[in-house]
Amino acid sequence: MTELSANITKLTGYLERFRRDGILNLIAGESRPALSGAAFNTLSPTDESVICSVARGGAADIDAAAQAAKDAFPAWRDMPALQRKKILIRIAEGIEARAEEIAFCECWDTGQALRFMSKAALRGAENFRYFADQVTAARDGKTLQSPGLMNVTTRVPIGPVGVITPWNTPFMLSTWKIAPALAAGCTVVHKPAEFSPLTARILAEIAHQAGLPAGVWNLVNGFGDEAGKHLTEHPAIKAIAFVGESRTGSLITKQGADTLKRMHLELGGKNPVVVFDDADLERALDAVIFMIYSINGERCTSSSRLLIQETIAEEFQARLVERVNRIRVGHPLDPKTEIGPLIAQEHFDKVTSYFEIAKQDGATIAAGGERLGSSGYFVQPTLFTNADNKMRIAQEEIFGPVLTAITFTTEEEALEVANDSKYGLTAYLWTNDLTRALRVTTHLEAGMIWVNSENVRHLPTPFGGIKSSGIGRDGGDWSFDFYMEQKHIGFALGQHKIPRLGV
Ligand code: NAD
Repeated sequence: MTELSANITKLTGYLERFRRDGILNLIAGESRPALSGAAFNTLSPTDESVICSVARGGAADIDAAAQAAKDAFPAWRDMPALQRKKILIRIAEGIEARAEEIAFCECWDTGQALRFMSKAALRGAENFRYFADQVTAARDGKTLQSPGLMNVTTRVPIGPVGVITPWNTPFMLSTWKIAPALAAGCTVVHKPAEFSPLTARILAEIAHQAGLPAGVWNLVNGFGDEAGKHLTEHPAIKAIAFVGESRTGSLITKQGADTLKRMHLELGGKNPVVVFDDADLERALDAVIFMIYSINGERCTSSSRLLIQETIAEEFQARLVERVNRIRVGHPLDPKTEIGPLIAQEHFDKVTSYFEIAKQDGATIAAGGERLGSSGYFVQPTLFTNADNKMRIAQEEIFGPVLTAITFTTEEEALEVANDSKYGLTAYLWTNDLTRALRVTTHLEAGMIWVNSENVRHLPTPFGGIKSSGIGRDGGDWSFDFYMEQKHIGFALGQHKIPRLGV
């Protein structure tokens, strides 16, 4: 038996309960179908087969979930920090115990390759452990003395929050948002992406089995313009943590306006990787390839624009083509696979439409540029060269394994091209000239920059973008700034003079 067939056998076991029961919502600790009785099917992008049916939540389900989150809020907020911490650690342990099931289901539901998803569960558990450690200090504040008063600040959880997540790495991103919300003392209504509901259900189950009180974490499946929209408009929901497209971020900001929702938006990117001719080109090549062709290129932080110095462009691009042509596209559960199928038909059509757009714009397809196979959403890893930054392939987020290479001559030109984008999530810089690195990073317009490195996440650092890539930061204490309100209390130290009116 090959490793792939052994994995498929295990997957079949893991999917059995989903096939039998479908995916239900989880509201106030109870599994429930949508109140309307509506359901939709989730498909595997590998062979377009139906995995199972999913509750299609609507306004009534969101109302019930928001009410449950509101009811559960006071007790969760007031639970002693150490007790909350213990529950979060038990959730981390529950994730670790079901790591393989989570990874296999994630691969089958999203098309992501096992080599990357096998660590997704462990990273999710790490998020719970990290924020569990922060629980005890979350409310700490400052003492600010003023004449006649002792001023004290503290932070309090904002209330029930909505979490809306995308399909690209759904498990990791859900933990990334929900762990700090719970640690802060908020209760949650989670609306996962309609294309990838499996692991959100497993995660919510783990949380309940870990002893999370009913109503603290509610799961409502459904579509963005139904359940998602209603969640952003709901008056009991005090904030929305959203990860998804920039266009949707702007929509939900409008939807949340009437209830003055606090919004945290983690949105799209068209991130530059700038390679100067003095860089360690071997390492730069590895990082360039990894940061666009891993996770199917369905990655907000992917380096989808390569800005390469003219002096080394020909050789670097030739080596890139060689490597890109050797990337293994295949079944997501095959350990050898480097790129799996794209998430869904409409996304597949979008990504592959850029092959024609590139040609029309006058770029060269130096590698890939074709669909693969007759079923499933497989594409060849693709490289466009001879591109300029005005082309659509350089400006639009393709969100697939597709890299656009653009040459530059001077540092000034590199900076101008890098910043000529509506997005500003990440940037990557390769140079061995320290003062150049300092100059360029000062002027690069991005929320996160790595120098001589691929994206290496460190949980205490701020994660987020500028321009159309988002508003707000995750990570470390920044997460608590979003999920909590600052509160100031002034205590009079004596009988200071109070202005007297109407005397
Ligand atoms: P999307 O915006 O289409 O959907 C994201 C979520 O929003 C889904 O759950 C969807 O149902 C919901 N939604 C859609 N319309 C809504 C509405 N009107 N009201 C409320 N909710 C609504 O994004 P996607 O296609 O699922 O994900 C890919 C996008 O996510 C890419 O643009 C990618 O760059 C971005 N992303 C960003 C980050 C980051 O940290 N910046 C991380 C991962 C993905």
